Amino acid sequence: MRLGARSLFIAVLRDITEGKRAEEALRLFEERFRLVLEGLKDHAVFLLSLDGRVVTWNAGAERIQGYAADEIVGQNFSCFYPDDEVKRGAPEHELAAARDGSPYEGEGWRVRKDGSRFWAITTLTALRNESGKVRGFALVIRDITERQEAQEALRQAQEKYHGVLEQAVIGSFETTPGGRFIRVNPALARLCGYESPAEMKKRITDIGQQLYVEPERRAQFVHLMREHTALSEFESRVYRKDGSIIWINETARAVRDVRGALLHYEGMVEDVTKRKAVEIQLLHDAFHDKLTGLPNRALCLDRVGQSIARAQRSPDYLFAVLLLDLDRFKVVNDSLGPTVGDRMLVEIARRLEQCLRPSDTVSRLGGDEFALLLDGIKDVGDTIHVAERVQQELAAPFVLGGQEVFAGASIGIALSATGYEQAEDVLRDADIAMHRAKTLGKSGHEMFDTVMHARAVKRLEIETDLRRAIEREEFRVFYQPIVSLETGEITGFEALVRWQHPERGLVSPAEFIPVVEETRLILPLGRWVLRESCRQLKEWQTRFPEHPPLTVAVNLSGRQFEQPDLIAHIRQILEETQLSPGRLKLEITESVIMENADSASALLLQIREMGIELAIDDFGTGYSSLSYLHRFPINALKIDRSFVSRIGAQGENAEIVRTIIALADNLCLDVVAEGVETAEQLAHLRALHCRHGQGYFFSKPIEAAAVESLLVRRPTW
Ligand code: C2E
Ligand code: MG
Ligand code: MG
Repeated sequence: MRLGARSLFIAVLRDITEGKRAEEALRLFEERFRLVLEGLKDHAVFLLSLDGRVVTWNAGAERIQGYAADEIVGQNFSCFYPDDEVKRGAPEHELAAARDGSPYEGEGWRVRKDGSRFWAITTLTALRNESGKVRGFALVIRDITERQEAQEALRQAQEKYHGVLEQAVIGSFETTPGGRFIRVNPALARLCGYESPAEMKKRITDIGQQLYVEPERRAQFVHLMREHTALSEFESRVYRKDGSIIWINETARAVRDVRGALLHYEGMVEDVTKRKAVEIQLLHDAFHDKLTGLPNRALCLDRVGQSIARAQRSPDYLFAVLLLDLDRFKVVNDSLGPTVGDRMLVEIARRLEQCLRPSDTVSRLGGDEFALLLDGIKDVGDTIHVAERVQQELAAPFVLGGQEVFAGASIGIALSATGYEQAEDVLRDADIAMHRAKTLGKSGHEMFDTVMHARAVKRLEIETDLRRAIEREEFRVFYQPIVSLETGEITGFEALVRWQHPERGLVSPAEFIPVVEETRLILPLGRWVLRESCRQLKEWQTRFPEHPPLTVAVNLSGRQFEQPDLIAHIRQILEETQLSPGRLKLEITESVIMENADSASALLLQIREMGIELAIDDFGTGYSSLSYLHRFPINALKIDRSFVSRIGAQGENAEIVRTIIALADNLCLDVVAEGVETAEQLAHLRALHCRHGQGYFFSKPIEAAAVESLLVRRPTW
């Protein structure tokens, strides 16, 4: 406090106490007074002289008003008032009021040193001496801007809220606990098809019953709201005024008084019909095949699962799954195009549906595979009956793109009597049976049995083993001599693959070739055998130059034959190994040729043009359609060993062999008799002028090292 101010203050106090107190007493009073004033942090307190000039102040005053001490002493307190208030004479007026009666108190704008305004409560109290004479004033200014602002914000928010509800696109409501509307906003009325909130409120007197399609579910929701304090969400279907149904999403809560008693419910409502439609569509799509509209694999598994559960509950209940695979779909798709293929699948779906009772399910599992779930059948006979009807139905031609197309299907059947626990197992068994039906001849049906299962398991084991075998290079090529029956000398070898299994020893190709074919492992394996055989023969040629030229015959599987890059691979291997093409023979079976009849002749021709020879393997066991022979550029026939082995000691049963040899002579083809096991067979083959022989009588298939000693010995027969 500055000296001037202090002396003025003392002067005032001296007036107040009218000189009764000593200087010391005054000082004590001043100190105490200051302590009290300093404690009032949120209040600006000033002592004013009679004419309203500032005598002293507290720290709160500095903080609130923003003046430094020396700036304010002696100033008239009207400097705390805005200009307009000063002009109105408010400061004098208030001062006069305080002087004349009880303390003046009022709310209004005040200004800080920097000119900014704040809302304040001002109290002006007259300080009197004992005789009641006014000696000065105490001015207290309290900044209540924050409180004021909060109140204003609240008022504005409330106004805005009601405005928003009126304008909102989202519906909102308040209802009584009993289910009548208290308030409905225009959006909600619109959403439900009413002209106005008033109309909606008037017409709907029981929300649960009149509005909701499923009143019980709504009742549960109300219960939930009553139990919880938080917002609850609920999706449901409601009737609009015109009776149409929409999906809504409600977010609502219970509103309670301070003691927790339920006052009403309030909430927001959104029309989610469009989203719901998309969701329902997505759900449908997830369980149905797009093309045919049939249930898909997922739904099929679900239904089969339900049937399994039922079978477990009631032992008399029987069901069956028929798995159906079209026999010629690939041909249709490839030749007539995928659009026609699609139309065929749709048509098949319709035909299948016609074969079934309403309680049965047809599903499309993918591609050209369908499953029929026959629910609650009487016995196996029922199932066979359906399978036959389906096959009949599919046997009728499809007219697609102006063309008649035939489908035909192989069917595998699994019966619930097997005691299933998993839907996947039922489908797996039906699938095994279906593959069995396929191998046994097209367009048949087969019932799954346990032998099939064992076979399938074994096959799976082999498959896993085989994949590893290729990585670990467990395959070997064995060579079986082919002998000229004219000279009795070895003219070449057939390369026969073996699998050197780490535990099982040598495994025969008869066991694994069908599996590698199915899994396409034949492609890398076949290439390896071809390369290895060519390399080996080239090596023997260099090491045994004195030996008459040798040939190597390599078997070609159907899968390899279908590969578009087959020719390129053969060419590459010949180049790599430097074997001349004339030394290589390829063996193919009749069925491989016939199944690829369109492409076969061009392909065979290309092979022949490279200078490689072609032989038909196992001749007589396949189509035996002799008419095709002259159409293909073949060099040799290999008579299947089943015919050779039939030739008896006396030369009986040799007719077929004789016929084949005569046929080959006519077509200028070489002949190799397979499976020669006895000297008698050899003698008879010689008598029939068969050119070549191969069989255990000469040698079993042997390892390369063993071949070398043969080449050194040069045996003749
Ligand atoms: P294939 O091409 O007809 O081969 C002749 C089969 O008859 C060989 O069986 C051979 O060991 C057997 N054999 C030869 N002489 C006699 C005999 O006097 N008596 C009897 N009982 N059997 C004889 P293998 O080696 O078990 O091969 C079976 C089939 O596996 C082959 O029949 C061929 O179709 C296939 N195969 C073998 N190696 C390959 C290969 O590298 N690639 C392909 N794609 N198939 C192969
Ligand atoms: Mg062969
Ligand atoms: Mg053969």
